[in-house]
Amino acid sequence: MIIGVIGAGQLGMMLGESAKELGCDCIFLDPNKNSPAKKIGEVLNHEFNDLKAIKKLSSQCDVITYEFENVPVKSINFIDPRKVYPPSYALETTQDRLKEKHLFDSLEIPVAKYSKVDSFSDLLDAADSLGYQFLIKTRSFGYDGKGQFLIKDESDIQKAWDQLGNQPLIAEKKIKFDREISIIGARSLSGEIALYPLTKNNHVNGILRTSRSTEENTIVTKQAHDYLSCLLKKLNYVGVLALELFVKDDKVIANEYAPRVHNSGHWTIEGTEASQFENHVRAIMDMKLGDTSVNGFAGMENLIGCIPAEIKGLSGEFFFHDYGKEERQGRKLGHVSIVTPKEEDREIKLKEIQRIISQT
Ligand code: AMP
Repeated sequence: MIIGVIGAGQLGMMLGESAKELGCDCIFLDPNKNSPAKKIGEVLNHEFNDLKAIKKLSSQCDVITYEFENVPVKSINFIDPRKVYPPSYALETTQDRLKEKHLFDSLEIPVAKYSKVDSFSDLLDAADSLGYQFLIKTRSFGYDGKGQFLIKDESDIQKAWDQLGNQPLIAEKKIKFDREISIIGARSLSGEIALYPLTKNNHVNGILRTSRSTEENTIVTKQAHDYLSCLLKKLNYVGVLALELFVKDDKVIANEYAPRVHNSGHWTIEGTEASQFENHVRAIMDMKLGDTSVNGFAGMENLIGCIPAEIKGLSGEFFFHDYGKEERQGRKLGHVSIVTPKEEDREIKLKEIQRIISQT
């Protein structure tokens, strides 16, 4: 079987590695001539909205998937819907934060209080109805905290508008959360669902730094499980879906979902029997899903901007993944995962990685 993957970044690369282990080949589509996935399979170097290239990819593959959420919906809709997963409705909805919030509302999944902002006067109304502090976010194409402005008080209103005001926006009350978690799960073509243990995430400047597999109390776990299962079913979803959540006083509040494998699930490569990448491939190929339970305490530290030489020299207990990308400020270049039998050992190892990173 041949899988077509739109996008050949590190997520495509790791998907391709899992596909190979399951006996499938991958062909990628990505305009970048030097993409991480090129070591896995052929990369068709065309733009994502090049429908001729989409047609070519589709003609060469048994099934198509994608590794990022900004793929043009038009390109996905150009492919036979029985051949492309996750379904385009899941993609289209998450490409507009307002539609995504409406979907959460319709499923009674709690979200931060929000309002639509299309004009300066909408922004002033948002300040009145939400109260300070609140964020404005671009409705589309935001990622890693980009396209966002935190409005702390009245004096920020004009600055925020000058920076982001020429596009559709959403205003969201800033949640004073206790922690950020994500839940990742897979649903196969036959409707089988497998959920991973929750992941606790730490962000710095809007970019994920550290993830830890975590056992939350049953109240939090139940909410996260219910919300993800509900989304998977409502979207008639096929593949891996990640849901980013805030936890405040044991109440779970949804931030956004990603219709793809997710950075906060990289620890599943070494931490579980069947990683998120493997289960994505299994789901879209309609194979039985693999075991998602964690064997120990897993952790992951992103390598952002540069990879210190000392990281490359870490011993076998540290799993270093190099995406083969050129160093650039703010760019995700790789990650290091660990799995330990004891929780305190995980913390010691994560601190060791963080110490090395902080010295560069
Ligand atoms: P996003 O691009 O929506 O995933 O946001 C990036 C990061 O900004 C999140 O992981 C949070 O740390 C923070 N953030 C986003 N929305 C909110 C919110 N409504 N309240 C508090 N923090 C937020």
